Order: sequence, then structure tokens, then C-alpha cells
Amino acid sequence: MNIKKSEQLFKEAKTLFPGGVNSPVRAFKAVGGTPLFFVKGDGAYVWDADDNKYIDFCCSWGPLILGHNNLQVTKAIQETSQNGVSFGTPTIQENELGKLILDNHRYLEKIRFVSSGTEATMSGIRLARGYTGRDKIIKFDGCYHGHADSLLVKAGSGLATLGTSTSAGVPEAFANETIVLPLNNIDLVIDAFNKYKNEVACVIIEPVPANNGLLIQDEIFLHQLREECTKHNVLLFFDEVISGFRLGFEGASGMYNIKPDIITFGKIIGGGLPVGAYGASSKIMSYISPEGNVYQAGTLSGNPVAMAAGKASLEVLLQNGFYESQNERTEYFVSELVSYAKSNSYEFNIYNVGSIFWLAFSDNINIRKASDIDSDSMKHFKRLHKALLERGIYLGPSGFEVGFISSAHTKEVLDEAIDIFKKSLDLVFS
Ligand code: PMP
Repeated sequence: MNIKKSEQLFKEAKTLFPGGVNSPVRAFKAVGGTPLFFVKGDGAYVWDADDNKYIDFCCSWGPLILGHNNLQVTKAIQETSQNGVSFGTPTIQENELGKLILDNHRYLEKIRFVSSGTEATMSGIRLARGYTGRDKIIKFDGCYHGHADSLLVKAGSGLATLGTSTSAGVPEAFANETIVLPLNNIDLVIDAFNKYKNEVACVIIEPVPANNGLLIQDEIFLHQLREECTKHNVLLFFDEVISGFRLGFEGASGMYNIKPDIITFGKIIGGGLPVGAYGASSKIMSYISPEGNVYQAGTLSGNPVAMAAGKASLEVLLQNGFYESQNERTEYFVSELVSYAKSNSYEFNIYNVGSIFWLAFSDNINIRKASDIDSDSMKHFKRLHKALLERGIYLGPSGFEVGFISSAHTKEVLDEAIDIFKKSLDLVFS
């Protein structure tokens, strides 16, 4: 495989950016080798700087639910940008996207657009604190919510103790306001509520945790979480940056029929452009400036070109049968590969929910918390990633990351991918 141009470009990038990248996981540290520089995407395919072609299951880490270069989205971007790209005033496009979302989401009454998932969760946490007048938050081990200070925190020693930061530069005093618990265990949540009575502002969770493998929660746990939060006057905060508009237009909230108090979005909401958002009831959102005294602002928030891309994208998702088709094709892909692995006694499984999938090198069908994952199994991922790459499949370069299927991943594309996967699995397990 010739990747000379990517190698040259990465050499240059290392002189420009820390580690040669502008976001760490792109650096291929988990799988080794040189990150590829992509120059073009069309439908389910991407091309690197050396003109190698791949089926793309990373899909820009989730935003591209319609695949690359989608006609409606690119047309909206082109048409809107012809009139200028930013004004710093309210725009029609913000109203249009806001209305489209609120009209089609049972659990939201007001929304605020920001420019990334991190900004959305950071602002949502501030809102939860401002609304409740409490400082502490609970998060779960294995959930990622972006890189705001109070969310870069892991569990301290012992359960329900104060957290410690996972990054240099985060003051311990900030980390101490975050309590980190294992997923899928309601008793520990109740213990923490009792221990920190009237101190907890919110519980933040990815309702479908998809940043540390795919840790699908028992549905009952999520319902109990809703009940206990209500009982203890704590806000329930669903971070739907990945699951939002992915598992249905109403995301995981809609799938589980759970009304969270605050929801955050990112990725799909901008159709591939940088957009995030947080939303809640009108009452909670009235605490945000300029209506209320929780400050939050953004020079490029609600950018008209990004809003237009988001709207064009979400309109397609609202079409009849969109999600059914996504799910059907994903089920087909997953079941073909899982049954192939089984018939060959390979220790390989794929977990999926909607069009999100995760490659698990384990027979355990009950992986629900971060500590259930055998980190040793990642050595298989590394080999599989390389074998797939060499045969024309691109997956995000870490075994803890999930893959995504877009509407451009037709049955024909998936059949091509299944063939390549089978050959690569043979190589890894033989
Ligand atoms: N929350 C979740 C659930 C995410 O998956 C991510 C990003 N992967 C974020 C927040 C942060 O979003 P961003 O990278 O856009 O800042």
C-alpha cells in the first residue's frame, strides 16, 4: 500500500501541531502507523492523498449519517454561503433549524446552538448548576462528554468519592466537584444521592455510552435513573452528542421514552459542520442569558451556513422509513459478520444499536460498564484495523471507538465490506 504522500504530510504536520494533529485520536497512536490524510469523500467512500480508496465506517466520528458529499447538504452550504458566511446577528437559518428540531422532539421546548459537543455539555453543566444552585455533578466511568474541566475526571479511590482529574491542567478543586460512578448500577447512584444530599446538580450520562466501546445499558437502569433523579430533585442530563438524531430523530430519549431535563447534541445536528446544542424545558432554559443569569455566548454560534447544513441533513432524517432502512442495513452487516465469526470459532462479536456498531473481541454479551472490557483484546483490534486498511476499509483508529453506518452504505457497499472483513478476520485469527 502506497501512503507516501500521507507520510510526507504527517511529517510536516508534526512541525505544525502537537503530535501532528488537531485532535488526539487522529494520531493513530492506538493502532500504530501513519494517519491518513483524506482529500475526498463521496457517499460511503473516502480517498487519501495517495488516491487509495476506502469504505468509510468512521463517518467523521458520527456526523455524516448521510455519507460524504450528500447532494442536499452541499447544495444548502453552497446556496447559503453565497450570501456571506457570518453576520453575528440573528439569522433566518437559526429559526428554521430551531423550529425543525423543536417541532419534532417531544422532550425539548427551547434550544441554544453552540459550535461543538464540548461547548454544549460544558454549557449544559453550567445551566444545571445555575438552575439548581448546587455545585456537584455525577458522571459515569466510560462516558465521554467532551473536554470541559469538570468532565475530564475519573473516579477517586473508593466508590462515590470525589473524582480526580484525567488531564494535567485541571485543578483538583474542579475535579472534586465531580463524582464518578460505574455505569448500570442504580444502588450506587442512590448511595451518592444520600451521601451528597442537596449538593448534586445533575447526573450526566450518555444514554447509549459509545465512547468506550458500546456499553448498552439495561433499560430498567435508565428508567430508575429518571425516577431517582426526580425523587432527589437532581436534574437528569442526557448527552446525546452521538445518539441524538442517530437512534431516531429523538435519539436515545425517544428510543427509551425517557424525558431528561437537559439534552445535548453535536455531530449530526450540523450536517458535518461545527454545531452543538443544548436544550430543555422553557423554564430551565429561561436561566440562560440574556433571559437569565447563567452566562453563555458564542461569536459563531448559530452560524447560518452550519445551520443550513444541519437543516438539510435533518430534513432527510425525517423522511418516512429513514431509520428503519438504517437499522435494517446495519443488522444485515452485523449478522453476516457475527455468524461468519461464530462458524469459524473466532472470538469476535459486533454490538450494535441503530446504526452504531462496535467490534468486540469477546464472547461476553453483557458488556455494560467500562471495566467489563478486556483491554488485552485491543491487540486484535490493532491487527484487524491494519488488515482492513490495507484492503480498503477505514475504521476510526482505536478499538474503543464505535463505527457508523450512513444512508450511503447501501447493501452493495456493505456486501463489499463484508467480503473484506471476512478475509481480514481470517488473517487476524488464523
Ligand atoms: N459528548 C459525547 C457523547 C461525545 O461523543 C463527544 C465527542 N465524541 C463530545 C461530547 C464532545 O464533542 P466535540 O468533540 O464536538 O467537542
